[in-house]
Amino acid sequence: MNLTSTRDKTQSVALSYALLNPSANFGGLFVPKNFPKFDDEFFKKAVHLSYKELALEIINSFDFNIDEEIFKLALNSYDKFDDKNIPLKIEKISENLYINELYHGPTRAFKDMALQPFGIIIDELAKKDNKNYLIICATSGDTGPATLKAFENSKNVKVVCLYPYEGTSEVQRLQMVTSNDRNLKVIGIKGNFDDAQKALKTLLGDEDFKNTLKKENLFLSAANSVNFGRILFQIIYHFYDYVNFLKNGILKGNETFDIIVPSGNFGNALGAYYAKKMGAKIGVIKIASNQNNVLTNLFNNGIYDIKNKSLIKTISPAMDILVSSNVERLLFDKFGDIKTKELMQNLKDNKSYKIPKIEGFEAKFCTDKECINFIKEISKKGKLIDPHTATCFKFTPVKKPTVITSTAHWVKFTPSMIKAIKNGEVKDEKNDMLNLAKEFNDKVPNEILSLFSNEEKHKKIVEKEEIKNTIIEWIKK
Ligand SMILES: *Cc1c(COP(=O)(O)O)cnc(C)c1O
Repeated sequence: MNLTSTRDKTQSVALSYALLNPSANFGGLFVPKNFPKFDDEFFKKAVHLSYKELALEIINSFDFNIDEEIFKLALNSYDKFDDKNIPLKIEKISENLYINELYHGPTRAFKDMALQPFGIIIDELAKKDNKNYLIICATSGDTGPATLKAFENSKNVKVVCLYPYEGTSEVQRLQMVTSNDRNLKVIGIKGNFDDAQKALKTLLGDEDFKNTLKKENLFLSAANSVNFGRILFQIIYHFYDYVNFLKNGILKGNETFDIIVPSGNFGNALGAYYAKKMGAKIGVIKIASNQNNVLTNLFNNGIYDIKNKSLIKTISPAMDILVSSNVERLLFDKFGDIKTKELMQNLKDNKSYKIPKIEGFEAKFCTDKECINFIKEISKKGKLIDPHTATCFKFTPVKKPTVITSTAHWVKFTPSMIKAIKNGEVKDEKNDMLNLAKEFNDKVPNEILSLFSNEEKHKKIVEKEEIKNTIIEWIKK
């Protein structure tokens, strides 16, 4: 099957092309032309499959142009997660409420679920074509570390990671700036995530920049969730939620369950939407936001409006986003390419657009104060949740089986944890983290502990205008 553009459905490209050239016609995003559908017969069988086997069934159903062997290799990246049999962990936390921890990979955020296999696929495609790629990634804190990790040691792929200086947590910053490999470059920018994402989008469309790279034998690509390769792997774990409920007899027949997703760029929630479209019996997809509540307004009132908004810095920085890229894929699915192109033009020209209400979603947002209270409340039950996952509790209690999508390990956000649980401030981040873990019978992953003694290699902080030249300088070195 091929993919098409959200802004031009006459475009048709193979997956291998879309992964390496993620910008589609008229500035659109790539989406599969169709979504395969799974029926009850399949699910009867699926309860006996391992996570990787299920993943492969779902991937193969799309019949993309990439060899199954490459996908298998990609899925083997899950072998290094905490439990080599399954990359995630689902736990019941109260009546009807389950938590799907998606942060058991090497950088302790759910981004690893997609970026680990994605890295292998890109590397394999580059090797096969004997080409070299530059992947630029804009990060609000978790995509950066996960992308750098995914391409560690790659011979054919270089990575430049743009992060908002002072916009990430200390652990996230350390994860990036201590990167050691010569193919990795980390640049702090004086701006916020939207500035970083905008710089990325501009560079992807900059012919002069691309020509300069070409002279160095480099082709340009992106690893943000604008890349469909990310979304593909984010469908699978929501699918698995359903299979897991069937396996454990929590759901039967036509019963559905709800999913709560802490959302920013809307890639994770979009994965849930696609899983539902493909036959997983998902009821309502509940979109949790922080005070940057553009999505709350969109799903409740049909209005996307950033005219008078400026980004608010919150304790859930991975969700500090005003321009939520993947909403475009939902718009395409609901309203088609012509309407989507028009709406995106409105967003560009007037900083707003209006649509009819989209069914199947609910949306709420959390203030930092509410998040802190949720972290404290849940900690009394002996469970530590990070500030992003905490936003989901705005939807609790729940009346039917519901899965909270837990997106990051709390160790990445120790200052907020100490504030919530100890009503205090961090004195020594590493120590405070260790003490908190001990108190809750939890463990600080080794790769987080070692960050504090690793050398900071990447010190560069630049103005937005200097990004392009900084990258070119590094490439030419
Ligand atoms: C990226 C991220 C999110 C937001 O996910 P989207 O797919 O961009 O909506 C939420 N929480 C954490 C911890 C993240 O890293």
